[in-house]
Amino acid sequence: MLANFKVVLVETSHPGNIGAVARAMKNMGMDQLRLVTPKLFPHADATARASGADDVLRNAEVYSSLQDAIADCQIVLGSSARDRTISWPSLTARECADKWGGNTDDTIALVFGRENSGLKNEELDLCHYLLRIPCNPGYSSLNLAAAVQVVCYELFVSSNQQYQSLIGDQGEVPLATAEQMESFYEHLQQTMADIGFLHPDRSTSIMRRLRRVFNRTQLDTKELDILRGILRFSQSHNLK
Ligand code: SAH
Repeated sequence: MLANFKVVLVETSHPGNIGAVARAMKNMGMDQLRLVTPKLFPHADATARASGADDVLRNAEVYSSLQDAIADCQIVLGSSARDRTISWPSLTARECADKWGGNTDDTIALVFGRENSGLKNEELDLCHYLLRIPCNPGYSSLNLAAAVQVVCYELFVSSNQQYQSLIGDQGEVPLATAEQMESFYEHLQQTMADIGFLHPDRSTSIMRRLRRVFNRTQLDTKELDILRGILRFSQSHNLK
């Protein structure tokens, strides 16, 4: 149950929080923990706060970048307490659980940010949705493990309610993974530069907006193949 959800913690400073996250996950039947460049890990404080969920800690995978940590995931949700100037499509924890908690074949990353500064915009660029826990607008930043607890709780409740599969996705083409999407974006950016559409000064903001467009549509691998084919064609055509 919920085995296809990966909890990804980015640059956690306090090892105790990593332990508390492991405990929160195990309470809710989840055990797939990924750590991106944690400041201190493994650490006695993590083990102490895990209090019995040390198996989750032991099996935690450590990555040197967020991109690597989400490479095999089809859906990536970046959780944030703050409003951003760019509005990423957002879901509450409950909406996320309603959408995927009961029935999904996709591998889903739940990404959580640093205790002091959250996730950077460049990291949210890698996410399909912003995940929000509704709370007091004047004091909206939960402790990291508390935020993980709320999200995992919603998923747990929803997966119990929806154990009878209602949505039949079987037999459909799998969604593109984050790694496949990243190589598509590189190809797209390169093609736009090659055909003289993209001015280097504007490439960051245009690419960010294009990412939003494609992330909204959740491309499957066949659709991605078609788009890559168009890019290859435009590049070769442009060279002639
Ligand atoms: N001070 C940081 C928040 C750190 S809290 C900031 O300004 O962004 C650590 C992490 O917990 C956040 O990066 C986010 O992933 C998660 N989190 C905390 N409160 C949240 C909320 N209300 N909604 C969604 N995620 C939240």
